[in-house]
Amino acid sequence: MPINTVTEDPLAWQESALCAQAGPEFFFPAPGSSTREAKQLCGACEGRMACLEYALTHDERFGVWGGLSEKERERLRRSGSRG
Ligand code: SF4
Repeated sequence: MPINTVTEDPLAWQESALCAQAGPEFFFPAPGSSTREAKQLCGACEGRMACLEYALTHDERFGVWGGLSEKERERLRRSGSRG
């Protein structure tokens, strides 16, 4: 059996998602609106890294995911430094 076999539910992080208690407009703000509050919430979220990985893997283009805006995720993708 491979050491890195993932047996957990890949979407388990969503169960502890802090954004589930906030409105969608919080994480999908109108263009030009601040994403600061959403990012602060992400900073306290247990599933932040899994959320970010999900967004990168599924090429989510809109909103704040894992504490990064769409522009920041695009920058991360281009730099190839997903880690
Ligand atoms: S990291 Fe942010 S967007 Fe992702 S689940 Fe947590 S609160 Fe929601």
